[in-house]
Amino acid sequence: MSDSPIYDKVALIGIGLIGSSMAHAMRRGGVASHIAGYAHRAETLEKARSVGFADSLHSDLAACVKDADLVVLATPVGTYAVLAEQIAPHLKPGATVTDVGSVKSAVIRDVGPHVPEGVHFIPAHPIAGTEQSGPEAGFAELFDGRWGILTPPPGTDSAALERLKSFWHGLGSDVEVMDARHHDLVLAITSHLPHLIAYNIVGTADDLQAVTKSEVIKYSAGGFRDFTRIAASDPTMWRDVFLNNREAVLEVLGRFSEDMSALQRAIRWGDGEALFNLFTRTRAIRRSIVDAGQDTAAPNFGRSKKPS
Ligand code: NAP
Repeated sequence: MSDSPIYDKVALIGIGLIGSSMAHAMRRGGVASHIAGYAHRAETLEKARSVGFADSLHSDLAACVKDADLVVLATPVGTYAVLAEQIAPHLKPGATVTDVGSVKSAVIRDVGPHVPEGVHFIPAHPIAGTEQSGPEAGFAELFDGRWGILTPPPGTDSAALERLKSFWHGLGSDVEVMDARHHDLVLAITSHLPHLIAYNIVGTADDLQAVTKSEVIKYSAGGFRDFTRIAASDPTMWRDVFLNNREAVLEVLGRFSEDMSALQRAIRWGDGEALFNLFTRTRAIRRSIVDAGQDTAAPNFGRSKKPS
């Protein structure tokens, strides 16, 4: 719990999984005096009201960002340019505009030009999430022990950067500062490509004629089930990620396809040594992730035998 709030008023533009989790974590950490939330659909505002994580809720952008010290864009990245243009005239001098989008170069391209003189702009990306969406999906612990990456453009005010770092620490997160282009390449391999593979494998299984849908579901514990969790992620958010990190995703996808062809060849020619060596190397990576506290070592990802 912070001794005094880091920002007086924080405006959340978007109160889905990430926005609402930030609100819960802000309350828990005492890092903001007033949490304002904006949503464009009345239904979302109503759900947020019933959960009760915000001090004020708005369907009007200008009212939400008025007098805010920190403004957080937490909608799909494809909406950022229009939202940034709309909030720009209402931002308080000295305020910081940030975001939580899963891509960063495109955010600098789309939002940067709209940020007025005298307002700080520091893009961010919490490496935390679930496949759930909406204001009821949020929870205070989402960012605990996870990394938050900040990608300040050159010339960013150092005091504003330190303040935003303290804010994310207050939400339970560890913080790393990185160049936006590098962020996009790292996330292309650690997040975007795995999602693409999951979407593809689940789609392929759905299209197979020789194996029925009921068989795919019945025998899913063989590995398929873990892909379906990732492939259940929000379609709008992920469409926008791929459209806005095209270059980096295509680069790692090229490497992935080459490596997949090598595996195909190893299977065709019975090259067990190549398969064994790769599988040994990948098992060590899994151990490093568990050792770094980024997942559980419990068998079956800590699931009980029979899902309840
Ligand atoms: P979410 O649960 O689907 O929430 C999205 C929010 O954006 C909702 O409040 C929605 O309001 C609003 N919204 C959608 N379209 C809008 C528009 N055109 N104008 C104004 N508001 C709009 O999504 P989320 O998972 O919180 O993701 C939000 C951001 O976080 C994305 O940029 C994503 O890349 C990033 N992110 C997500 C994860 C993850 O695992 N989910 C992790 C890290 C970062 P309505 O309900 O009223 O439509």
